[in-house]
Amino acid sequence: MRISSAFDGGNIQFVQMTEPYIAEVEIQKDRQSDFYQWFYFRLSEVQGKTSQVRISNAGGAAYPEGFVDYHAVASYDRETWFRVPTHFDGTSLTISLTPTENSVYLAYFAPYSMERHADLIAQAQCSDRATYSCLGQTHDGQDLDLLTIGEPGPNKKNCWVIARQHPGESMAEWWMEGFLNRILDEDDPVSRELLNRCTFYVVPNMNPDGTRRGHLRTNALGVNLNREWQDPSEDQCPEVFTVREKMRETGVDFFLDVHGDEALPYNFISGAYGIPSWTPDREAELENFLDAFCHASPDFQTAKGYERDQPGKANLMIGKNYVAETFKCLAMTLEMPFKDTADTPNEEFGWSPERSMLLGDAVLGAIWAWAKNS
Ligand code: ZN
Repeated sequence: MRISSAFDGGNIQFVQMTEPYIAEVEIQKDRQSDFYQWFYFRLSEVQGKTSQVRISNAGGAAYPEGFVDYHAVASYDRETWFRVPTHFDGTSLTISLTPTENSVYLAYFAPYSMERHADLIAQAQCSDRATYSCLGQTHDGQDLDLLTIGEPGPNKKNCWVIARQHPGESMAEWWMEGFLNRILDEDDPVSRELLNRCTFYVVPNMNPDGTRRGHLRTNALGVNLNREWQDPSEDQCPEVFTVREKMRETGVDFFLDVHGDEALPYNFISGAYGIPSWTPDREAELENFLDAFCHASPDFQTAKGYERDQPGKANLMIGKNYVAETFKCLAMTLEMPFKDTADTPNEEFGWSPERSMLLGDAVLGAIWAWAKNS
């Protein structure tokens, strides 16, 4: 058995072979940080061999409850990612499989690589509806990519949609692919009417360095982007700094920040309830959006999610709270599961790239309902 992870988004450290087809490995920490949970590696020389990989430091990961009732994903062709038997004993996460091919990739969730990101941006900018801009560069010298969809104008709502502040939450960029496919589809009537009323500013990947390095949560300098919104350093956190500068230029009427949650097996939205300027009218606007999203996708729900912040207790370092307070607009975080949706499960694939893309497609129905009423 051979194990490798020296590729785009890879993360694993080989420790030892305890038996010929039983390996012990460890997940590596995000650079300059204690966070770790994302893993992505390749096994080879394993065809027909009953194999086990034991991640011995899983119990110390950022969200160990994320490994309870969790199944890792595997792929032979790097397109179809299926779930494989996985056991967590509180300390180690053991993945077992008998590969039918001689090489198999294993990951925490279906990866969305920087190479695929480059394809997504390149294809989107060729649409008549989209314009590409480079917001700046990261510590590692990668571009921060912005797509502007639709024509800006004085009577248009300015809608910002961003994903992957936390790079290990790769479902967020699969979601983006579904979102962009629909908003750029010239035959889609919802997209057509939305773009008569709104301009979309879309950042499909807020954290390219964390993505390429195989991080869970931080950029190349160990910074958690979603705790930097109030006062981002241009040097340490150019990702948030440049997006915030651009937001000031465009104004913001709507903000959606797309994430994945390690532990909860639900799709849900976290609102900006605890900000100082929260009002009953703003709560009603949020409730209307949530109702419309429930109608647009049976995979979305509102019964389960995070506890609301108490009035005045919101952390304004978090993107949705900062944007809701600064621009006095509807601003939300969307969370998708790493595991599966408990109410609408799929045993073979769990929550998947395809389902993430369909949720990104469905959200446009909810944004259309919001745009008509505001
Ligand atoms: Zn997140």
